[in-house]
Amino acid sequence: MTSRGLLASAASLTLVGLVVVTTSAPASARPATSRADRCLERGPIVVRAARTVVRSGCSLAGRVVTDGRVSVTVPPAGMGVAGDGVGRHGDAPGITVTNTGTTIRVLRAGHAAGNGGWYLAPLTTTTATTTTTATTTTTGTSVAIGTVPETTESAQRGSTAACQDSTYHLEHHRWVTALRYHVNVRKMPQAFHKRTVIRQVKAANANMRLGRNTCGKPQLTTPAAHYLGRTRKAPNIKVGGPTCGDPNTTNVVGFGNLPGDLLGWTCYWYNGRGRMVGSDMVIDNGTALATHLPSPCSNTWDFEGTVTHEWGHAYGMAHTGPGHPNLTMQHVLKPCSTYARTLGLGDWLGMNKMYGHH
Ligand SMILES: [Zn+2]
Repeated sequence: MTSRGLLASAASLTLVGLVVVTTSAPASARPATSRADRCLERGPIVVRAARTVVRSGCSLAGRVVTDGRVSVTVPPAGMGVAGDGVGRHGDAPGITVTNTGTTIRVLRAGHAAGNGGWYLAPLTTTTATTTTTATTTTTGTSVAIGTVPETTESAQRGSTAACQDSTYHLEHHRWVTALRYHVNVRKMPQAFHKRTVIRQVKAANANMRLGRNTCGKPQLTTPAAHYLGRTRKAPNIKVGGPTCGDPNTTNVVGFGNLPGDLLGWTCYWYNGRGRMVGSDMVIDNGTALATHLPSPCSNTWDFEGTVTHEWGHAYGMAHTGPGHPNLTMQHVLKPCSTYARTLGLGDWLGMNKMYGHH
């Protein structure tokens, strides 16, 4: 569904490539058999090679599809998954893979423009070298995909205040049942305290789920969330790639050494009716994040604000695109501020569109 939804939104933003692998016999989309195990030995499939693999009679379900940086595992028929990566300076292509049972659709999208999988990267004056890559959208026009351009800096100074900026983008799938989740604190940064982490992960969930804001907007009616306690189970994400794993039934918030300047990473799984069925989150365990911002502060990012952003993805929010630095769902986070803990107008409107309010 992200691909459908994204196609709708990406057409206006940055869609760089859609690969549709129509499997002649539905065999390719069926769960792996011994022959597919042989195929599996050959490891991840690069997006553009997907067709060749199908022709060799290999099943795609359970195989890892990658664009060289971000990877996802092809889910069983009737499901979709999306993940995201980070390029240097904050731009990150995303991959969305939908297995319709007869068709495997692989969508790669330019992330900075607010679609595909989701990440959160720091916004620092040092990251702003403007490199643009010209790519061809499905509509054939060439579009420049920018990393965090120098202009973002200036945009901030003149940027629209949080309660005046009504921009939002949706992933076009959402939860209709309660979201049950665990927290794994085993790989958290050394400076963090377990209780503080759990308190802030729960607070961040409520920030997004209930639409905490300073814009005078009412509380949202998003389905409930239940914290089920701590777990030793790792989030269903291999941080190396990062790579989204096979869908499972547990939702875990955890920590890991994310690549590049990623602060957070979320994978989500959805069914053919656009309903979320799973979501896992990894927060970087380097030194960039703090549960309490130091004073004076430099090059340090707010942990609870970062997790509030990632919960946004878990609930169906996409990125705003560049130029919305005061909104929680922009793909880059400002350092030394807790602003992302409260939703801006656009963030609230997006959640309200999916879940309504009192
Ligand atoms: Zn994000």
